[in-house]
Amino acid sequence: MPENEARELRELAAGLAEWLRYQRRLGLRGLPGQAAASPQEASTAAAKVPSLEEIRQEMERSPAGRLYPGARSLVFGDGPPNARLMFIGEAPGAEEDAQGLPFVGAAGRLLNNLLSKLGLRREEVYITNVVKSRPPGNRDPLPEEVAASLPFLEKQIKAIRPRVIVTLGRIAAHALLGTKEPMTRLRGKWQRYDQIRVMPTFHPSYLLRFPKERHKTWADMGQVMEYLASLKDNGQ
Ligand code: URA
Repeated sequence: MPENEARELRELAAGLAEWLRYQRRLGLRGLPGQAAASPQEASTAAAKVPSLEEIRQEMERSPAGRLYPGARSLVFGDGPPNARLMFIGEAPGAEEDAQGLPFVGAAGRLLNNLLSKLGLRREEVYITNVVKSRPPGNRDPLPEEVAASLPFLEKQIKAIRPRVIVTLGRIAAHALLGTKEPMTRLRGKWQRYDQIRVMPTFHPSYLLRFPKERHKTWADMGQVMEYLASLKDNGQ
Protein backbone atom coordinates (compact mmCIF):
# COMPACT_ATOMS: atom_id res chain seq x y z
CA MET A 1 0.00 0.00 0.00
CA PRO A 2 1.38 3.47 -0.86
CA GLU A 3 2.70 5.38 2.18
CA ASN A 4 0.17 8.25 1.85
CA GLU A 5 -2.79 5.82 1.90
CA ALA A 6 -1.30 3.98 4.90
CA ARG A 7 -0.91 7.30 6.74
CA GLU A 8 -4.54 8.25 5.98
CA LEU A 9 -5.66 4.88 7.29
CA ARG A 10 -3.63 5.32 10.51
CA GLU A 11 -5.12 8.81 11.03
CA LEU A 12 -8.61 7.45 10.43
CA ALA A 13 -8.06 4.69 12.99
CA ALA A 14 -6.68 7.16 15.54
CA GLY A 15 -9.68 9.48 15.01
CA LEU A 16 -12.09 6.59 15.42
CA ALA A 17 -10.37 5.44 18.62
CA GLU A 18 -10.60 9.00 20.03
CA TRP A 19 -14.30 9.21 19.09
CA LEU A 20 -14.98 5.88 20.82
CA ARG A 21 -13.16 7.03 23.97
CA TYR A 22 -15.26 10.22 23.93
CA GLN A 23 -18.51 8.24 23.52
CA ARG A 24 -17.48 5.96 26.40
CA ARG A 25 -16.82 8.99 28.61
CA LEU A 26 -20.37 10.11 27.80
CA GLY A 27 -21.60 6.76 29.05
CA LEU A 28 -22.25 4.93 25.74
CA ARG A 29 -22.19 1.23 26.41
CA GLY A 30 -22.56 -0.16 22.90
CA LEU A 31 -22.44 0.83 19.27
CA PRO A 32 -25.54 1.47 17.20
CA GLY A 33 -24.68 -1.30 14.76
CA GLN A 34 -23.58 -3.81 17.38
CA ALA A 35 -25.27 -7.19 17.40
CA ALA A 36 -27.92 -7.36 20.08
CA ALA A 37 -27.20 -9.61 23.03
CA SER A 38 -28.86 -12.99 22.76
CA PRO A 39 -31.92 -13.41 25.01
CA GLN A 40 -29.78 -15.72 27.16
CA GLU A 41 -27.00 -13.13 27.52
CA ALA A 42 -29.54 -10.40 28.20
CA SER A 43 -31.28 -12.39 30.91
CA THR A 44 -27.95 -13.31 32.57
CA ALA A 45 -26.96 -9.63 32.56
CA ALA A 46 -30.36 -8.61 33.92
CA ALA A 47 -30.17 -11.28 36.61
CA LYS A 48 -26.94 -9.71 37.90
CA VAL A 49 -28.54 -6.34 38.66
CA PRO A 50 -31.18 -6.59 41.37
CA SER A 51 -34.23 -4.34 41.15
CA LEU A 52 -34.73 -1.45 43.55
CA GLU A 53 -37.35 -3.46 45.40
CA GLU A 54 -34.94 -6.38 45.82
CA ILE A 55 -32.25 -4.02 47.10
CA ARG A 56 -34.70 -2.53 49.58
CA GLN A 57 -35.64 -5.98 50.85
CA GLU A 58 -32.00 -6.98 51.13
CA MET A 59 -31.26 -3.82 53.09
CA GLU A 60 -34.23 -4.39 55.42
CA ARG A 61 -32.78 -7.80 56.29
CA SER A 62 -29.24 -6.48 56.86
CA PRO A 63 -27.71 -4.71 59.91
CA ALA A 64 -27.45 -1.52 57.78
CA GLY A 65 -31.26 -1.55 57.50
CA ARG A 66 -31.80 -1.51 61.25
CA LEU A 67 -33.58 1.67 62.30
CA TYR A 68 -31.97 4.06 64.75
CA PRO A 69 -33.66 4.27 68.14
CA GLY A 70 -36.74 6.47 67.76
CA ALA A 71 -36.83 6.18 63.94
CA ARG A 72 -39.95 4.84 62.25
CA SER A 73 -39.07 4.30 58.60
CA LEU A 74 -36.37 3.02 56.34
CA VAL A 75 -36.40 5.91 53.85
CA PHE A 76 -35.08 4.00 50.88
CA GLY A 77 -35.63 6.38 47.96
CA ASP A 78 -38.27 7.80 45.69
CA GLY A 79 -38.59 8.15 41.92
CA PRO A 80 -38.62 6.24 38.65
CA PRO A 81 -36.23 3.25 38.44
CA ASN A 82 -34.84 4.56 35.13
CA ALA A 83 -34.40 8.22 36.09
CA ARG A 84 -31.78 10.15 34.12
CA LEU A 85 -31.06 12.35 37.12
CA MET A 86 -30.45 11.13 40.67
CA PHE A 87 -30.06 13.25 43.82
CA ILE A 88 -28.28 11.91 46.89
CA GLY A 89 -28.61 13.59 50.27
CA GLU A 90 -27.32 12.73 53.70
CA ALA A 91 -29.98 11.07 55.86
CA PRO A 92 -33.69 11.54 56.48
CA GLY A 93 -34.94 14.14 58.96
CA ALA A 94 -38.08 14.12 61.09
CA GLU A 95 -40.57 14.75 58.24
CA GLU A 96 -38.91 12.16 56.04
CA ASP A 97 -39.00 9.63 58.85
CA ALA A 98 -42.69 10.31 59.44
CA GLN A 99 -43.63 9.97 55.74
CA GLY A 100 -41.06 7.35 54.72
CA LEU A 101 -39.96 9.56 51.81
CA PRO A 102 -36.75 11.52 51.21
CA PHE A 103 -36.66 15.31 51.12
CA VAL A 104 -40.24 16.11 52.07
CA GLY A 105 -39.45 18.61 54.89
CA ALA A 106 -38.14 22.16 54.62
CA ALA A 107 -35.00 21.10 52.70
CA GLY A 108 -37.21 19.07 50.36
CA ARG A 109 -39.42 22.08 49.65
CA LEU A 110 -36.34 24.03 48.59
CA LEU A 111 -35.26 21.11 46.41
CA ASN A 112 -38.73 20.99 44.79
CA ASN A 113 -38.51 24.70 44.19
CA LEU A 114 -35.14 24.26 42.48
CA LEU A 115 -36.50 21.42 40.33
CA SER A 116 -39.46 23.46 39.18
CA LYS A 117 -37.17 26.42 38.35
CA LEU A 118 -35.27 24.01 36.10
CA GLY A 119 -38.47 22.80 34.46
CA LEU A 120 -38.21 19.38 36.09
CA ARG A 121 -40.96 17.51 37.88
CA ARG A 122 -40.07 15.69 41.06
CA GLU A 123 -41.63 12.54 39.59
CA GLU A 124 -38.94 12.38 36.90
CA VAL A 125 -35.92 12.32 39.23
CA TYR A 126 -34.78 9.70 41.72
CA ILE A 127 -34.05 11.00 45.22
CA THR A 128 -32.34 9.13 48.02
CA ASN A 129 -29.88 9.52 50.87
CA VAL A 130 -26.63 7.83 51.82
CA VAL A 131 -28.06 6.74 55.19
CA LYS A 132 -31.66 5.56 55.10
CA SER A 133 -32.74 5.91 58.74
CA ARG A 134 -33.01 9.14 60.72
CA PRO A 135 -30.01 9.54 63.06
CA PRO A 136 -31.01 10.41 66.64
CA GLY A 137 -31.40 14.16 67.11
CA ASN A 138 -30.58 14.71 63.43
CA ARG A 139 -26.88 14.28 64.14
CA ASP A 140 -24.49 13.64 61.26
CA PRO A 141 -24.22 9.95 60.40
CA LEU A 142 -21.02 8.42 61.77
CA PRO A 143 -18.36 7.23 59.31
CA GLU A 144 -19.11 3.58 60.15
CA GLU A 145 -22.83 4.17 59.53
CA VAL A 146 -22.02 5.73 56.16
CA ALA A 147 -19.74 2.79 55.35
CA ALA A 148 -22.46 0.27 56.23
CA SER A 149 -25.07 2.04 54.05
CA LEU A 150 -22.84 2.79 51.07
CA PRO A 151 -23.05 -0.67 49.41
CA PHE A 152 -26.83 -0.28 49.18
CA LEU A 153 -26.54 3.18 47.67
CA GLU A 154 -24.09 1.75 45.16
CA LYS A 155 -26.56 -0.98 44.27
CA GLN A 156 -29.29 1.63 43.80
CA ILE A 157 -27.01 3.50 41.40
CA LYS A 158 -26.27 0.29 39.48
CA ALA A 159 -29.97 -0.48 39.19
CA ILE A 160 -30.91 3.02 38.00
CA ARG A 161 -27.80 3.88 35.92
CA PRO A 162 -28.66 7.60 35.87
CA ARG A 163 -26.90 9.88 33.40
CA VAL A 164 -26.06 12.34 36.15
CA ILE A 165 -25.85 12.13 39.95
CA VAL A 166 -26.12 15.29 42.02
CA THR A 167 -24.74 14.93 45.53
CA LEU A 168 -26.27 17.30 48.05
CA GLY A 169 -23.82 18.37 50.72
CA ARG A 170 -20.57 17.14 52.18
CA ILE A 171 -21.61 13.74 53.53
CA ALA A 172 -22.98 12.51 50.19
CA ALA A 173 -20.09 13.89 48.13
CA HIS A 174 -17.47 12.43 50.44
CA ALA A 175 -19.20 9.06 50.69
CA LEU A 176 -19.70 8.61 46.96
CA LEU A 177 -16.44 10.08 45.72
CA GLY A 178 -14.22 8.77 48.50
CA THR A 179 -12.67 12.19 49.10
CA LYS A 180 -12.36 14.60 51.99
CA GLU A 181 -12.08 17.73 49.84
CA PRO A 182 -14.09 20.61 51.28
CA MET A 183 -17.36 21.45 49.54
CA THR A 184 -16.07 24.89 48.61
CA ARG A 185 -13.55 23.15 46.35
CA LEU A 186 -15.73 20.24 45.19
CA ARG A 187 -18.95 21.97 44.26
CA GLY A 188 -19.61 22.98 40.69
CA LYS A 189 -16.91 20.71 39.27
CA TRP A 190 -17.74 17.53 37.40
CA GLN A 191 -16.61 14.32 39.06
CA ARG A 192 -17.07 10.67 38.11
CA TYR A 193 -18.49 7.67 39.85
CA ASP A 194 -18.35 4.41 37.89
CA GLN A 195 -18.38 6.32 34.57
CA ILE A 196 -21.39 8.36 35.66
CA ARG A 197 -21.03 12.12 35.83
CA VAL A 198 -21.40 13.50 39.35
CA MET A 199 -22.08 17.12 40.24
CA PRO A 200 -21.45 17.90 43.90
CA THR A 201 -23.43 20.87 45.17
CA PHE A 202 -24.56 22.36 48.46
CA HIS A 203 -27.15 20.70 50.65
CA PRO A 204 -30.57 22.44 50.61
CA SER A 205 -30.41 22.76 54.44
CA TYR A 206 -27.22 24.76 54.06
CA LEU A 207 -28.94 26.94 51.45
CA LEU A 208 -31.83 27.54 53.85
CA ARG A 209 -29.30 28.86 56.37
CA PHE A 210 -27.26 30.80 53.83
CA PRO A 211 -29.64 31.97 51.09
CA LYS A 212 -26.92 34.12 49.52
CA GLU A 213 -25.18 30.90 48.46
CA ARG A 214 -28.17 29.66 46.47
CA HIS A 215 -26.99 31.13 43.19
CA LYS A 216 -24.02 28.74 43.31
CA THR A 217 -26.24 25.66 43.42
CA TRP A 218 -28.45 27.16 40.69
CA ALA A 219 -25.27 27.51 38.57
CA ASP A 220 -24.18 23.92 39.34
CA MET A 221 -27.61 22.70 38.26
CA GLY A 222 -27.32 24.82 35.12
CA GLN A 223 -24.30 22.72 34.14
CA VAL A 224 -26.26 19.53 34.85
CA MET A 225 -29.19 20.63 32.71
CA GLU A 226 -26.89 21.67 29.88
CA TYR A 227 -25.20 18.27 29.90
CA LEU A 228 -28.51 16.39 29.97
CA ALA A 229 -29.76 18.53 27.08
CA SER A 230 -26.60 17.77 25.09
CA LEU A 231 -27.19 14.04 25.57
CA LYS A 232 -30.77 14.43 24.31
CA ASP A 233 -29.51 16.33 21.27
CA ASN A 234 -27.32 13.33 20.52
CA GLY A 235 -30.30 11.01 20.89
CA GLN A 236 -29.11 9.57 24.23
N1 URA B 1 -31.79 16.06 54.54
C1 URA B 1 -31.28 15.03 53.84
O1 URA B 1 -30.08 14.90 53.66
N2 URA B 1 -32.13 14.14 53.37
C2 URA B 1 -33.44 14.21 53.51
O2 URA B 1 -34.13 13.33 53.02
C3 URA B 1 -33.94 15.31 54.23
C4 URA B 1 -33.11 16.23 54.72
